[in-house]
Amino acid sequence: MNVNQSIPPVPPFGQPQPVYPGYHQSSYSGQSGSTAPTIPYGAYNGPVPGYQQTPPQGISRAPPSSGAPPASTAQAACGQVAYGQFGQGDVQNGPSSAVQMQRLPGSQPFGSPLAPVGNQPAVLQPYGPPPTSAQVTAQLAGMQISSAVAPAPPSSELGYGPPTSLASASGSFPNSGLYGSYPQGQASPVSQAQGHPGIQTPQRSAPSQASSFTPPASGGPRLPSVTGPLLPGQGFGAPSVSQPNHVSSPPPQALPPGTQMTGLLGPPPPMHSPQQPGYQPQQNGSFGSARGPQPNYGSPYPAAPTFGSQPGLPQPLPPKRLDPDAIPSPIQVIEDDRNNRGTEPFVTGVRGQVPPLVTTNFLVKDQGNASPRYIRCTSYNIPCTSDMAKQAQVPLAAVIKPLARLPPDEASPYVVDHGESGPLRCNRCKAYMCPFMQFIEGGRRFQCCFCSCINDVPPQYFQHLDHTGKRVDAYDRPELSLGSYEFLATVDYCKNNKFPSPPAFIFMIDVSYNAIRTGLVRLLCEELKSLLDFLPREGGAEESAIRVGFVTYNKVLHFYNVKSSLAQPQMMVVSDVADMFVPLLDGFLVNVNESRAVITSLLDQIPEMFADTRETETVFVPVIQAGIEALKAAECAGKLFLFHTSLPIAEAPGKLKNRDDRKLINTDKEKTLFQPQTGAYQTLAKECVAQGCCIDLFLFPNQYVDVATLSVVPQLTGGSVYKYACFQVENDQERFLSDLRRNVQKVVAFDAVMRVRTSTGIRAVDFFGAFYMSNTTDVELAGLDGDKTVTVEFKHDDRLNEESGALLQCALLYTSCAGQRRLRIHNLALNCCTQLADLYRNCETDTLINYMAKFAYRGVLNSPVKAVRDTLITQCAQILACYRKNCASPSSAGQLILPECMKLLPVYLNCVLKSDVLQPGAEVTTDDRAYVRQLVTSMDVAETNVFFYPRLLPLTKSPIESTTEPPAVRASEERLSNGDIYLLENGLNLFLWVGASVQQGVVQSLFSVSSFSQITSGLSVLPVLDNPLSKKVQGLIDSLRAQRSRYMKLIVVKQEDKLEMLFKHFLVEDKSLSGGASYVDFLCHMHKEIRQLLS
Ligand SMILES: [Zn+2]
Repeated sequence: MNVNQSIPPVPPFGQPQPVYPGYHQSSYSGQSGSTAPTIPYGAYNGPVPGYQQTPPQGISRAPPSSGAPPASTAQAACGQVAYGQFGQGDVQNGPSSAVQMQRLPGSQPFGSPLAPVGNQPAVLQPYGPPPTSAQVTAQLAGMQISSAVAPAPPSSELGYGPPTSLASASGSFPNSGLYGSYPQGQASPVSQAQGHPGIQTPQRSAPSQASSFTPPASGGPRLPSVTGPLLPGQGFGAPSVSQPNHVSSPPPQALPPGTQMTGLLGPPPPMHSPQQPGYQPQQNGSFGSARGPQPNYGSPYPAAPTFGSQPGLPQPLPPKRLDPDAIPSPIQVIEDDRNNRGTEPFVTGVRGQVPPLVTTNFLVKDQGNASPRYIRCTSYNIPCTSDMAKQAQVPLAAVIKPLARLPPDEASPYVVDHGESGPLRCNRCKAYMCPFMQFIEGGRRFQCCFCSCINDVPPQYFQHLDHTGKRVDAYDRPELSLGSYEFLATVDYCKNNKFPSPPAFIFMIDVSYNAIRTGLVRLLCEELKSLLDFLPREGGAEESAIRVGFVTYNKVLHFYNVKSSLAQPQMMVVSDVADMFVPLLDGFLVNVNESRAVITSLLDQIPEMFADTRETETVFVPVIQAGIEALKAAECAGKLFLFHTSLPIAEAPGKLKNRDDRKLINTDKEKTLFQPQTGAYQTLAKECVAQGCCIDLFLFPNQYVDVATLSVVPQLTGGSVYKYACFQVENDQERFLSDLRRNVQKVVAFDAVMRVRTSTGIRAVDFFGAFYMSNTTDVELAGLDGDKTVTVEFKHDDRLNEESGALLQCALLYTSCAGQRRLRIHNLALNCCTQLADLYRNCETDTLINYMAKFAYRGVLNSPVKAVRDTLITQCAQILACYRKNCASPSSAGQLILPECMKLLPVYLNCVLKSDVLQPGAEVTTDDRAYVRQLVTSMDVAETNVFFYPRLLPLTKSPIESTTEPPAVRASEERLSNGDIYLLENGLNLFLWVGASVQQGVVQSLFSVSSFSQITSGLSVLPVLDNPLSKKVQGLIDSLRAQRSRYMKLIVVKQEDKLEMLFKHFLVEDKSLSGGASYVDFLCHMHKEIRQLLS
């Protein structure tokens, strides 16, 4: 029961370290997924109506450990099928309030023209010389596309047969014409024409023929020979020996660099322009070693958008492609960073250091700057002037995760108590004391590092300076020596000048027909009986201070009195939902231990009370209003857990109608699909924020529920949305319970306000995340947990100084789960540069992508999706063109030169462009898109990284006794070998792909069946078997799940099976069925865009 593991070593600060003990709270069961409870939900083990399409079960499979029948996800009733898994994973809110969209300029509270004080040591480049212009150079001569007119958005995307009902829309997936027509054999990929110049090192001059290519339309492209080897360390030159090709395709005839493919010479293929791909003009040119025909590479190349409507376009010509091994590989970059940076701790003492990648395991030592676990920036060296910044077009943004969970060997922020005087701050800009403040006049005053104001040091804070001007107690005080720490807040920081009461959790359970029928209510009530013992608690507290309350509802609300003195709970019904009130005060919010018997009795009775309900209609807004009223009456902040099943169509405030319309996709009205249906939800959210009432919404829809509208309140209150489409206890209980346990236990900051201060010259201008803003500077968070990030964009308002650099200070004022008011401070110092090359050397592409995805996903609220995609492409091209023009060594225009730090920008950006929000496939529902859109808005950098570029792990390649995670391979069908088994995960989805020629012994060891054909497609639980391979795979699955904030349900996919279509959606280097470009094609396109900008 002790929750406090990992008390950090005694700090040098003479005070015990406590504070965020909850973060290391031992989990209540199933967090890792390996200890799923085996509670026998007896009554729910039977088949459920509408579930008859379960594929035949594999024979003689051992019983699954969780008690849930291993069933295919291909449910009949619920068209979501396996794809439903996608939308269900995880959600997190995003900003959609108009407030965030329009920021007032000039809101800086301290517009002092004073020059910043330089108190920084000389700028250091911590990791040695930046990579010598390790540019990806490739020659892209024959790249014309000019003759190809960019078409309007493909009409075929509209042609999925607009569903007349949602059920049919989603249900059409497995048999839809689109998927049905998918060429299984990848026969006859369409040619992409054009020659294949080679990769070049930047140091070499471009081949003379680079510029001499003629447009393919008018003549045959000439193929330049490869002109140079890759630079050492460039990381993407050597063909990977461990990345076998898909079985059904012949091994690629990768030619060594320098080889000329004569076979590719000749007239261009006759077909290329008529059908245009999804993105603008089709690329023809290419680079990299030419390879022989690769019928299996990706999917047919051109005419992506028309793919659905014209399946199997006969394209007789052999494809001529870049060698995928010759273009920058995410896998290689990740591996290199792990090898180079994973061994040494990352020490934060030096300004402007670029941290290791999020995919690298490393230890952080706080020596004055916030850990990258709290703050990551798009660049750690920012241009001194706005002109430079505009030229480069590199967004200046920080992704901030103020309550990030830390690994056990890193200390939580220390708590500083300055007593009644409260935290020491600058008088002018109100920045908090931090290591960058400069003490002067023998220690009697300090100059603010943010606004330069000179402040008196209060007598009780006075300390002498040493010969370097540093306070002699600097290392005894966290706020003078660390990047992150906390202050105890005084009553001045509290609402109404009153210390807050401990927060409350209110569980609000939909008991309409669907919730009862699926077994949800029984499952939930049973779980809560034990889960309530694991509410978050502070420090060494014996029990949680959080009080709990219970409401059930359909079209009316039922409140429960669970006062400890009662023998039985009492129910009070409120049917006047138009004007919600809470019918009882005393006995509604109670201490769990005191009222345990009554609560248990209530949770036992709820499923029985509503067992025979016929009520199918629900309300939504009144439920949340009831929660707000209850918290108001109790004068506390808190969190509402809503378990909701359907579109709220009952007569009540916030009543919704089904307005889903897939015909709007690719029209100017598509944005309405992402906007809330009525303003009532924003109004409600505002009330929630004012009360410090955070909403976590668990959705269990069987059809369209208008996620775009229902999620407005969670998203504006810092809450979470979870979606379990077509919920069935048998299939989904493990996932739901795992998410619920993790959610209920996680530490939450309540009633919070976050402010980001900056040193003179830049200021925060835009914010992305799950929060509310009523002015231009204060990020209001009714709740904030350790999984949520706030992304902040900065703009120049003055010139920066190379010597003093730029400073950020994020201050989060919040109420802890025990009701203590605190301030958490994170500081970060960045370098400033007058040379663009310094900017490009200190960028972090993963963070850039995080920002760009959030920017785009917010953009779809107001702009046509195509316009949003075009904006991203243009910005990316401008970034790379600026580098090419200003930083790269002179070379032929036919070369594509990428900055080392951004060489993955094209591949990652392409993944964003073809994601479901920006380019949906036929199987993606409107709710899925709204769900993912909000989810991404609060994601941290690690989450967006794997979400947009999934991890693909071969399971049978490495020795079975190897205990390390197998090295990943690139997310392309070409990397799959039919003799192997792979795991693919993106943080929301988890697939086990089984090749058709996998050895029988392996099949037996993993699935306990004798042949490939007997494996059940869509299986979600592997049998637990006593052999090394089975244990290893189970262990790996558990480990992957433990790394993610939400439970990933497993789906077994067999090669050539129907479900494989779903799996291929995640092979993001390939062309997608919805028209998304392959990596190779996109890189070519990007090169053309860059050339246009440079010419
Ligand atoms: Zn100041």
